[in-house]
Amino acid sequence: MKGCGEAGKTGYDLTGTKGHIFSNKDLDFICFPGKDCFLFGEMMPRVYLLTLSHAEKSPVGTKKDFAEQVVSAFKASYGEVVEYWCVSVEPHEEVGFHYHMAVKLKRSLRFNGPRKVLAEAGLRVNFTEPPEGAGYFHAFQYVTKEDRDAIKSIGHPEEVPKPRTERASTAARRRSRGASRFIADGTEALDPLPAEEKPHKLNRSEFAEKILECGIKDYQGLEIEAEKRRRQGDPEMWTFAMNRGQKIVEETIAMANSMARSIDQAVLSQRSRLQVLQEVLTRECECPESGLWQRMASQTLELNDVKKEVFCAAVVDLLRVGRSKGRNLFLVGQSNCGKSFLLKPLQKIYACFCSPAFNPFSFSSVKDKQVIFLDDFRFNAADAKPIPWTQMLNLLDGSVVNLSRPRTHFADDYCLEESNTIPVFATGIAVPIHFVGGVLHEGETEMMRNRFRVFVFERPATSIRECPACVSCFATLLRSWDSTKWE
Ligand SMILES: [Zn+2]
Repeated sequence: MKGCGEAGKTGYDLTGTKGHIFSNKDLDFICFPGKDCFLFGEMMPRVYLLTLSHAEKSPVGTKKDFAEQVVSAFKASYGEVVEYWCVSVEPHEEVGFHYHMAVKLKRSLRFNGPRKVLAEAGLRVNFTEPPEGAGYFHAFQYVTKEDRDAIKSIGHPEEVPKPRTERASTAARRRSRGASRFIADGTEALDPLPAEEKPHKLNRSEFAEKILECGIKDYQGLEIEAEKRRRQGDPEMWTFAMNRGQKIVEETIAMANSMARSIDQAVLSQRSRLQVLQEVLTRECECPESGLWQRMASQTLELNDVKKEVFCAAVVDLLRVGRSKGRNLFLVGQSNCGKSFLLKPLQKIYACFCSPAFNPFSFSSVKDKQVIFLDDFRFNAADAKPIPWTQMLNLLDGSVVNLSRPRTHFADDYCLEESNTIPVFATGIAVPIHFVGGVLHEGETEMMRNRFRVFVFERPATSIRECPACVSCFATLLRSWDSTKWE
């Protein structure tokens, strides 16, 4: 990280040397001119020992009052960063009191900000950090050595864990000398240590969850996060990466992110059909002459006695609610009557599943689409069908449908869930009809018929071919005649 040169905020190390702080993947680095860059947090403690000494009776009130002032001073500087604390008070030798407080932070932070806030409130608090590696254990012991009634915050551990380095060396000593209640520096070992501390090993799915939790997108991001955690005493991710190797790790990162993304896209595409339309309103008209598409669409609707407010409301309603009985649209009529012309802009606005090829797998590609637009849709017994009749009925009424996929590429069918509300627009000579043994099956045909809302176009409009689909005109027309709120 030498010579990053990124100018950002200014920071200081504990000796007061000035450097630049810059952020990369949620980590702060501090960079000193001509030297290496360091993880900024590494230089700052996560534990502080605070002392407030007063010759006279303290102005802060109870131990709890003092603790609350300290917590809010950290909050004013950094937000909710205090993990837990413990506070005690002891009488001064002559007059007044000493307050002692051990504070454990959620991350490594400097104390200047909070100290200033406290000073402004009239409290000259002395901040010190425990000896290197000693952590909260030492601060806690110091605070509680005199005052047996020291108070602890919510979330304070019942038993404060000893620092790792000390635990490790204690264990080593025990092994060499046999069990002893005392360790080398004379401090009494308060709690018997567990016989064996086996660190938890992540399995692959736990690892994947951590990937998503930390927002890791690639191998480099993983390296930074795993190393950061290892230094903070949590080596789980690091161990997994070391044991499994880069290939497995990269695959897991890619897979976890891809799965999370599919959900995001599904939610987004459902939520945003009308929001997308709303955005289209702000685009510029692309017609050869301004507003041409809109005028021709109006004429087409008038010519065929289709009320504009009814048609526009039906389109918007289908986009809003999605596939369901009586809501999918079918524009019926002979060719050249403007049916396709009216709906073509959909193809430019949304990812459209268009008229399917006549193979049994074509419908499975609705998976990645936002709208189904079956232009000039033919669907009867004589033709090969792109989708079985009953599946089509289910697709139209909003039910779950299993759409076939070629086994050469996929292990299973694509399941179109109820939560996927992809709307169906269609045009054609007639709504599909169903024959059984050469005879029209009225029940089945009626079921297909009542899944659509049908508009009839019978009067040919001669001039529409020269006007290309214009998304701005399309959205403007809908907005002019639909009175609902688009969201
Ligand atoms: Zn236009």
